[in-house]
Amino acid sequence: MKLPCLFQFRILKLAIMSLFSRPFTTKFPYAPYEPIKQYRGRPRYHKDDCIGCGACAEVCPADAITLIDEMNKERPVRRLVQHMDTCIQCGQCERYCPTEKGIKLSNEYDYVSFSSADFEEKVEKDLLLCECCGEVIAPVDQLRWLIRRLGPLAFTNPTLMLVSTRELALVSEGIKITADKTVRSQRVSIQCPKCRRKTALAV
Ligand code: SF4
Ligand code: SF4
Repeated sequence: MKLPCLFQFRILKLAIMSLFSRPFTTKFPYAPYEPIKQYRGRPRYHKDDCIGCGACAEVCPADAITLIDEMNKERPVRRLVQHMDTCIQCGQCERYCPTEKGIKLSNEYDYVSFSSADFEEKVEKDLLLCECCGEVIAPVDQLRWLIRRLGPLAFTNPTLMLVSTRELALVSEGIKITADKTVRSQRVSIQCPKCRRKTALAV
């Protein structure tokens, strides 16, 4: 009779051990899969912590974030749309977010869907426009964030000063500006840098 070789004993030992140890494979997709803590999953916007600055769209190497400024007359908004189908989960957006919490890579492992809309992650922010020419200045939340960070120093910037005093209801809405005439008193309004230069030189 031929005796079993050492290799066969090893295989037998492993087979018996595997009966009592944890399985190495998962039952996904029949059972949900719990990824490890460090897993880089789908980026998600956090509306309350995002200020709409657009830095995430600037730094995204895969061009997976689109920034759209919608100049709707009733409510001008900035929309940021993250496209999951082109995202490479590099984490640059999270790393360079100035609030550090506006966009975060989640731990989501399974994001299969039959609808293309499910692959888009969106956030929307109200825009502040120049009261002189209608140019975009910044999202309102970004200015509020700057005001909070700068404290009393925010009053050294005319736009930030006007935004904070209006929020405190210390001054009324901006002075209506006519495009055909530029006068110095128009300085007391929210303006883009170009218009501010113009009104500073006006008599
Ligand atoms: S997620 Fe961060 S970087 Fe992107 S727009 Fe919001 S605040 Fe800016
Ligand atoms: S994880 Fe990387 S590729 Fe994906 S949206 Fe953020 S910056 Fe772009």
